[in-house]
Parts: sequence; C-alpha cells; structure tokens
Amino acid sequence: MKTITQQKPLEEILESIARDTSVFIVGCGTCATLCRTGGVEEVAVMAEKLRDAGKIVTGTAVPPTGCDEVTGEMGRALRDPLAGADVVLVMSCAFGVQTAASQLKKPVAPALDTLFMGKEGPAGRYSEICMQCGQCVLSATGGICPVTVCHKGLLNGPCGGTNEGMCEVGSGRECAWTLIYGRLQAQGRLDAMRKYQAPKSYNATLRPGMIDLTHSREEAAKQ
Ligand code: SF4
Ligand code: SF4
Repeated sequence: MKTITQQKPLEEILESIARDTSVFIVGCGTCATLCRTGGVEEVAVMAEKLRDAGKIVTGTAVPPTGCDEVTGEMGRALRDPLAGADVVLVMSCAFGVQTAASQLKKPVAPALDTLFMGKEGPAGRYSEICMQCGQCVLSATGGICPVTVCHKGLLNGPCGGTNEGMCEVGSGRECAWTLIYGRLQAQGRLDAMRKYQAPKSYNATLRPGMIDLTHSREEAAKQ
C-alpha cells in the first residue's frame, strides 16, 4: 500500500512559484518513485522543464523517504544548494511536503497532488482501499470497503442505480454493493446485508488526525 500521487500541470506549478527565481527540487524514493511521479527520473525531467521556463535550479535530491527525518538529514548535507534556493519544489505526497516545510525551514511548493492511499494494479493503475474513516465496517461487507469503493460511499446498498453489476455513476466501475453481495453470498453470510448500518459518527473520523494509542477508546472518551 502506498500514497498515490499525480503530477500537477506544469502551468500550475509555475504559477505557484512565480515569485521565485531559484528552486531546489526534492523527490521521494518511496511512494512517489513507485508512482513514477517523484523519483530520480521525474525529478531530472522537472529540473529541465524549470530551466526551460527560466528558473535557476540550485540542486535536486531524492531521499529514500520524503516523510521522515531523512529529509532533515538531506537538508544538512545539501545546505549550500538549499540556501541558494528561494523555494523547495517537493515531488512527494502532502506528508512529504509538510515534512520538507518543517525540516528544511524554506518556503515549499507541492509539485504533486495527493490522491489517496491505495494499491497498485496492472500497469500503473491504482485503486483506493481505505480513507481512514475511523469506524471500520468491513466485517459486515465481506472485507470490501463501501466508503471508498461505492461512488456514493453508501453504508447500506445498493442504491437504485446499480445495473447488471455496474455503477450508475458512469466511470465504468463495478458496483461496490454488487461486489459485496457476491462476496457475502459466497461466504454464506448474506444476512449481514439485512442489518441496517447506522450513519457514521463524525466523532470517529479524526480531523485533525491525532490520537494517543496508550489509552483505549473507552479510556480516551472519559478524559
Ligand atoms: S470502512 Fe472505513 S476504515 Fe474500513 S476500510 Fe473503509 S474507509 Fe477504511
Ligand atoms: S451503483 Fe453501486 S457503487 Fe454505484 S453508487 Fe449505487 S451502490 Fe454505490
């Protein structure tokens, strides 16, 4: 599983760094490399595009991970090229962008859009598997997530738009609730679909995501 990212259009990147003359580019050796959005090759291509657009590229780096203290270590090792840059263009997920902002102490601009946590399918295709809703219902849905797989995120389905196993929303995707039906049927657990799932408690969705795991949920609620 990895954080799935997509490169922003070059015009948008250039607009976000319009006030800056010099740029240092940071990629990520993990998720963004696997997504081919911020690995060594993509960083080199971006450096060329920025030079063509009249920017000075003071340096580039692709740390093994873009979202931990390795970014700070890289910053100390590359102090001079970083010091010469007006802005750091970060080719990693938003976690890496925020890490660069706090550890490199420089203005940052994201070159990628962070889409979701997902898994890789055939030939560079990715699918979302969980949006961390804080109240997992997979036991009632045969292990298929209705929050992410159903276009409407329905906890009780299918809706009236399911048609021969496909979703009415029209992206050529299978209906999540038909998949859930098939899985539960194969498991002999179709009765789970008759149980009404109450709307999710938004208290369970941690925003901002902070938690002390040294206490149980019950203990934390009492505090
Ligand atoms: S129900 Fe919520 S926690 Fe469980 S897989 Fe789906 S989004 Fe993730
Ligand atoms: S057709 Fe299926 S996947 Fe599409 S919105 Fe309705 S229940 Fe969800």
